[in-house]
Amino acid sequence: MQNLLHNLNPEQLAAVTLPAQSALILAGAGSGKTRVLTTRIAWLIQTGQISPNGVLAVTFTNKSAKEMLTRLSAMLPINTRGMWIGTFHGLCNRLLRAHHRDAGLPQTFQILDSGDQLSFIKRLLKANNIDDEKYPPKNLMYFINGAKDQGLRAAQVDAYDDYNRKMVALYDLYDLQCQREGVVDFAELLLRTYELLSRNQPLREHYQSRFKHILIDEFQDTNDLQYKWLKLMAGTQAAVFAVGDDDQSIYAFRGANVGNMSAFETEFRVQNLIKLEQNYRSHGHILDTANALIEHNSRRLGKNLRTDAGHGEQVRVFEASSDIQEAQWITEEAQNLIRDGSSRNEIAILYRSNAQSRVIEHALFSAGIPYRVYGGQRFFERAEIKHAIAYLQLMDNPHNDSAFLRVVNFPARGIGARSIEALQDAARQYNVSLYAAVPYVAGKAGSSLSAFVKLIEGARFETQNLPLPEMVQIVLELSTLLSHYQTEKEGADRIENLEQLVSAATLFISEEGFGHDAPAFAGPSSAPAASLIANAQGVEIFDADAALPTVMSPLSAFLSHASLEAGDNQAQAGQDALQLMTVHAAKGLEFDSVFIGGLEEGLFPHENSSQEEAGVEEERRLMYVAITRARKRLYMTFSQTRMLHGQTRYNLRSRFFDEMPEASLKWLSPRVQASWFGRTKSAWDEAPEHGANAIAQSFNKPSNKSSNQSIWRVGQNVAHAKFGEGVIVNIEGSGTNARAHINFGKFGMKLLDLGIAKLERI
Ligand code: ATP
Ligand code: MG
Repeated sequence: MQNLLHNLNPEQLAAVTLPAQSALILAGAGSGKTRVLTTRIAWLIQTGQISPNGVLAVTFTNKSAKEMLTRLSAMLPINTRGMWIGTFHGLCNRLLRAHHRDAGLPQTFQILDSGDQLSFIKRLLKANNIDDEKYPPKNLMYFINGAKDQGLRAAQVDAYDDYNRKMVALYDLYDLQCQREGVVDFAELLLRTYELLSRNQPLREHYQSRFKHILIDEFQDTNDLQYKWLKLMAGTQAAVFAVGDDDQSIYAFRGANVGNMSAFETEFRVQNLIKLEQNYRSHGHILDTANALIEHNSRRLGKNLRTDAGHGEQVRVFEASSDIQEAQWITEEAQNLIRDGSSRNEIAILYRSNAQSRVIEHALFSAGIPYRVYGGQRFFERAEIKHAIAYLQLMDNPHNDSAFLRVVNFPARGIGARSIEALQDAARQYNVSLYAAVPYVAGKAGSSLSAFVKLIEGARFETQNLPLPEMVQIVLELSTLLSHYQTEKEGADRIENLEQLVSAATLFISEEGFGHDAPAFAGPSSAPAASLIANAQGVEIFDADAALPTVMSPLSAFLSHASLEAGDNQAQAGQDALQLMTVHAAKGLEFDSVFIGGLEEGLFPHENSSQEEAGVEEERRLMYVAITRARKRLYMTFSQTRMLHGQTRYNLRSRFFDEMPEASLKWLSPRVQASWFGRTKSAWDEAPEHGANAIAQSFNKPSNKSSNQSIWRVGQNVAHAKFGEGVIVNIEGSGTNARAHINFGKFGMKLLDLGIAKLERI
């Protein structure tokens, strides 16, 4: 016991060992909220107050759920696999799989991620001849998600004019179509679970008596529906332990309601409100910067943070002349950190918007530094992966029309738009899915469609007793996706990604506890017996008790994982790499060194929010989150010009700089201006800022190494038949292997083989 608690300060200790009543831990960044929550779970189990399966813990991301499980296994000699620790979405998915019949869903229901949802809506509008200029698909999507996040079905939404009535009618139609296809969107996972538990008393009582302790991290970012869900799960008995920080509420745009904190205090009759004021994460200058900044917000519950860690280094601020130079500087500084012994995993580059990552990635790539991007284009969102997943989805649930349309003619098998139209007409006429409508289509179209159905059925048959990774491998071949990309010019990367999908499947089954030999299609019937539990009324309940294998086949589980795994790139998992992500995605995480790029008006604070004070306050909280990720070193950069969405912007530095204490900032100001890469080059006052020197060196030292490429140099303007004019920004390799990165403006950056590409000097 001693070892669990001895590292806590008195307030943390009090929080960890509170009696079984609801409690709110309100505290600033880095004060140990997550650590307290995890330790409390361990303490409750160790002292025998609860068994591991009596705990329900909600985290904000899959990454933090995994981390919590790892920490718990380190603290306790228990098997944490199968514990109910996860995100709202993950936990709801699990409940719905176990109780799919009661929830009115097929067992193999599939999850639409936000990209899928948008294309689903476009298809719905088209099929119903709705003018998508008058009812833009995105607006409808926000409308539907907004209503669901408040717990409202179409019939419960108040429509006050014709336009709204139409949106409500479309919402209704959307739900019907989802039901027909056996698919659910993210918000539906929650709403469906909420409705299931409100309606089904035995089930509700069963889970209420099972989960005596509910713990929830990042409570400030729960939305209305999540809060209602929590109340339902808790009933009158459970002790709910909520931890949060109002200063880190950054999801208002998605319906998060920081007001849930005060509602919680009254509705759960919170007697224990604990504040933690000691920060264990950041050095003094970093903390002072964060504290001073957040002071500028008006609506705060008010907390203080102090540290014993000493001032540490000042926060370094760098002004770049262009985004390319900014990226270059960040890269050089990161290289220095690595050279000084920092591990790459401990360096994060944060940005406000995903669009910023491209230039940074390019600079890192050119410097040969491994990096890992969270968010942005996720592995499971790549086109080739989506195609492969669609085949797997059809094998698991053939009524998923989105999956059907994605691959019915990909790779091309002569099924044209006309055939699809005929099929859609038949599906409408008989009110069935596209897959089920195939037999109603006559003629040549009918026979090509039937051949596609045979392909899916055949794949299902051939793989039925195989473990998931083998199944994926075979589907890649049978679908002809592999051979298709083999013939494509730039197919090599795609093939590599498809191979990564097999590795992702292997990793998944080992992490989730599906034995390697478990057939991918085996459902609950052939899995270890799930427990049947009689509740107080003697009603037998199939409980989603142990690990996932009892409620989902490996294939269904893998497909859910592909939709739910937010912002993680499987292909790069496990590598020691620099961490790139948006500030939103960095919530709850910490790193020794943090770079925050693009601190400019219009970008951070973002232009969408800088008009209203409430918007600026949310941006300021976001900046507070960004700053407080850093333990030892923090770097902030901004740039005079930036290419974003194809336009060059001329930016003013962010107003946030005026809100941070001068004493904690160290400005690295440019001294000499010279031409560099056709833009502006700066040198710096401070000799130790090696970044500047390194840039200067690479500038002075052309990387041409052989006579073959000697006519090419960095900075050279060139013309290309297809891409037009561009400028060489980097040359790598030599001799016949020499390749250049060339920025072609509106065509973007290209990597061309200098021996092959027909380039002209201009
Ligand atoms: P955030 O608001 O960013 O989510 P948090 O309040 O959840 O932060 P934690 O991530 O739990 O903070 O803790 C921050 C860091 O401080 C972690 O590295 C944690 O291990 C460490 N820490 C917390 N409490 C203590 C303590 N009593 N002694 C030493 N280190 C501690
Ligand atoms: Mg935390």
